[in-house]
Amino acid sequence: MINKNDRIAVGLSGGKDSVTLLRLLHRLQKDLPFELVAITIDEGIAGYRSKTLEVAEQEAKNLGIEHKIFSYKKEVGLSLDEIMEKKQEKIPCSYCGVIRRRLLNQAAREIHADKLAVGHNLDDMAQSVMMNIMRNEPLRLARLNEPLIQDEKFVSRIRPLLRTPEKEVAIYAILNDFPIDFQECPYARHAFRAHVREQLNETEERYPGTKFKIVNSFLAIEDALKKGMSEKPLEMKMCGQCGEPSGQSKCMFCSMREEFSA
Ligand code: SF4
Repeated sequence: MINKNDRIAVGLSGGKDSVTLLRLLHRLQKDLPFELVAITIDEGIAGYRSKTLEVAEQEAKNLGIEHKIFSYKKEVGLSLDEIMEKKQEKIPCSYCGVIRRRLLNQAAREIHADKLAVGHNLDDMAQSVMMNIMRNEPLRLARLNEPLIQDEKFVSRIRPLLRTPEKEVAIYAILNDFPIDFQECPYARHAFRAHVREQLNETEERYPGTKFKIVNSFLAIEDALKKGMSEKPLEMKMCGQCGEPSGQSKCMFCSMREEFSA
């Protein structure tokens, strides 16, 4: 995933996965020369993000890694809490996911990163595969790992913890005394992901290895899926407002921004 002299941006939320990822990549630097820069996105979630932000800042400082913070408030004009006050009937994660993905990509590009490393573990990936299937979103499934159409504006993502179960990441973080607060985002319970996660955990208990099987099946069919999807004409457009690559003439990020200002 990482080549010699790459400049790697790490999405550092300050949670167990991203802190573990940062520490492991920092250790790896002893054997392979490459650069690390940490990026934190502050969604603006009262009572939650400020704690993990502190951890992120401290971690980057302790390891001597350059750290950049980008916030919804500054980049979008509203914090996630403010967005939810306006849009009470909506599910927070549908907004949050779109904005965070955009800001992470933009931030990684701004710091001239070759790749963006994210802390998604085996559980996250198994959940994402199942969610896309359950929502009948084959196109999203096909581009889960990487975009279907390459564009220089996309910084490619790597997921070094892809085959590491969440439990193992948590145990590693505890055994190594990482200063992690295991509190979950207060909005997480609203998410479809929370439901899928519960179901998968239950299935894993009864049929161990299920999460690995889901992710391995996805990786085995990923190329065929991409090929199948690209047989339908896929056209990369540029958003007419922000100029970022998008499937439509106005990207979801700009549509949401317009909705917030209404
Ligand atoms: Fe955003 Fe949802 Fe994750 Fe909370 S759980 S940080 S609202 S995507």
